[in-house]
Amino acid sequence: MAKRDYYEILGVKRDASEQELKKAYRQMALKYHPDRNPGSKPAEEKFKEINEAYEVLSDSQKRHRYDTFGHAGVGTEGMGGFDFNRGGFGDIFGDIFEDFFGGATGRARARPERGADLRYNLRVEFEEAVFGHEAKIRIPKWETCPDCRGSGAKSSGGIRTCPTCNGAGSIRFQQGFFTISRSCGHCNGEGRIISDPCPKCHGKKQVHHDKTLAVKIPAGVETGTRLRLTGEGEPGSNGGPPGDLYVVLTVNDHPIFSREGDDLLCEVPISIGQAALGVKIEVPTLKGKTHLKIPAGTQSGRVFRLKGLGVANVKGHGIGDERVAVRVTIPTKLTARQRELLEEFSKLSGDPVVTEEGLFEKVKNIFE
Ligand SMILES: [Zn+2]
Ligand SMILES: [Zn+2]
Repeated sequence: MAKRDYYEILGVKRDASEQELKKAYRQMALKYHPDRNPGSKPAEEKFKEINEAYEVLSDSQKRHRYDTFGHAGVGTEGMGGFDFNRGGFGDIFGDIFEDFFGGATGRARARPERGADLRYNLRVEFEEAVFGHEAKIRIPKWETCPDCRGSGAKSSGGIRTCPTCNGAGSIRFQQGFFTISRSCGHCNGEGRIISDPCPKCHGKKQVHHDKTLAVKIPAGVETGTRLRLTGEGEPGSNGGPPGDLYVVLTVNDHPIFSREGDDLLCEVPISIGQAALGVKIEVPTLKGKTHLKIPAGTQSGRVFRLKGLGVANVKGHGIGDERVAVRVTIPTKLTARQRELLEEFSKLSGDPVVTEEGLFEKVKNIFE
């Protein structure tokens, strides 16, 4: 059964404007809507027909293809709809493959598709990650060009049928018994090329502008934390929803602190005397300085835990600690008096020590 003409279905002229199409569609759709015609099979069929017609004619690209090629151009022609008068046997095969390839991809393109997710890498300061922060980021947003409404051409005359594929969007070639169809590289399968591009978008159909977004960074985030900004990804196509934007964080190093989960780590140097005799020292925290008592006889590398002075857990599971590791530093330059006292100290401890002269003797012995 031959398909009815889409313009005829909607009761509009072939040069009807977008507004006229919309108006006609609304009137017809209201009249034949299943809610208004419960149980009526003819009304249901009519309603489907109207929707199909409007789906094609309301899309400028599809309308152009329909105007040029009829139902075959928009992939809605049934398997029984070949035109035997058009050419030889090869052409009939061509039509079959057109339906398989061209037709199928044509339909896939029309389906509402969700836009792609985007990733934005954001660097934050150490303290911003610990305490939370609101960052402003600028991202390029793409939208349909308002001047050409996404056609890419300066005027309707600025769109030409692709000379390579003659508007089919695909090129057929013979391979043995079959005619194979593949997408036309010249027009990227669109069947038409823009000869007079829109000056605003330069034929790209979309324009971009920078958009500033506020990113709420919760306290406790770490390098690698992903924050999702719903709906800020690429726009969807054919009425599909936009994708999401993922902000992936990298936390800058701190001159004093590092992190291990929710614990803050730092290292504090103390002298031999302080380690041996004990001392009360000042240690840095992210909220200012605090005091820490180092008991007598503390070994290098010992870790002291300051409860609750770490990082608030990003998921609300409490607060970490600050872990202070003390590093006992060995003096590298000694005054004569300091040397004398240390030698005395070693003698009292019973430690054999190598004096500078003694060391020299030892080295000499090795080479003799
Ligand atoms: Zn082409
Ligand atoms: Zn434009």
